[in-house]
Amino acid sequence: MNDVVIIGSGCAGLTAAIYTARANLKPVVLDGHEPGGQLSLTTHVENYPGFPDGIMGPELIENMRKQAQKFGAEFKAGAVTEVDLRKRPFKITAGKETYEANSLIVAAGASARLLGLKGEKELIGRGLSTCATCDGYFFRGKPIAVVGGGDSAMEEANFLSRYASRVYLIHRRKEFRASKIMIDRVKANEKVEFVTPAVVEEILSPEGVVTGVRVRNPEASETREIAVEGIFVAIGHDPNTTVFKGKLDTDENGYLIAKHGSLTAVPGVFIAGDVQDHRYRQAVTAAGSGCMAALDAEKFLEEHKG
Ligand code: NAP
Repeated sequence: MNDVVIIGSGCAGLTAAIYTARANLKPVVLDGHEPGGQLSLTTHVENYPGFPDGIMGPELIENMRKQAQKFGAEFKAGAVTEVDLRKRPFKITAGKETYEANSLIVAAGASARLLGLKGEKELIGRGLSTCATCDGYFFRGKPIAVVGGGDSAMEEANFLSRYASRVYLIHRRKEFRASKIMIDRVKANEKVEFVTPAVVEEILSPEGVVTGVRVRNPEASETREIAVEGIFVAIGHDPNTTVFKGKLDTDENGYLIAKHGSLTAVPGVFIAGDVQDHRYRQAVTAAGSGCMAALDAEKFLEEHKG
């Protein structure tokens, strides 16, 4: 029996782990299918307070993990496959393991979206990636494409230009959702060529490895083939909430809905981070909400002792 189980080991889950561990609640953190969450897949983080020269995402997340361990948080590998929230103790199943918890913090984050093209999933690791940090190195001296028009796409295009011979930034509209500073940086990067408006129709892979993309200009109804050896899909994320369907309130996009800070309709279940936030989605807001969930769980356990 555990006082606190935390689902997710990204910025929100780890902050919740630091706080609950320091409160002597011995949290058990379930790593999930993407240990470290999105920060572990990102590069230079320049806007996390306290690091005037910035810090690499994986380093920041590793520091948080060590900090939580130092105070007694225990980490378990594996993704959650089922939860029973009907009564306390809650039951959380991850593969063959089942954990019982007096309180639960859901910080399961959000996962990278794919374009939905035929054969796309099979090309992951064969030229297609959703993580520039993880895979950029494989494309040294090769032409690659980044798809998307948000901050992630801009960040990845810039990062990948360190390795790639050419970066095609493909976006379905002429206007970008990304912040001006990020767009300006990419525009100033001579290695990056903007391809807009352009919808990816097909990822070319005659022998099961990416060799190019065919894009269509929706305004002119023209198509163009671009030879690339890598394609980085950076079109946003979906919340990891499948196991909570019908058990916790969700909005139309599947994000969990918080009531009063981190509280949910189920007493003892608290939510934090991107799993409940499609608006801010920042490392610092995720960390802040992880802290809120931890304090709420601590208060809840104090009020429901014995
Ligand atoms: P996002 O802001 O939601 O942008 C997703 C982009 O992908 C949009 O341009 C969207 O096009 C496009 N898109 C979505 N579905 C598509 C599809 N099926 N086919 C083609 N294109 C598609 O996601 P994000 O860039 O991952 O950013 C998420 C949040 O994290 C944002 O709040 C962002 O500011 C933040 N972020 C910040 C930093 C930083 O400050 N360093 C870095 C990364 C992310 P439309 O515009 O046409 O909808």
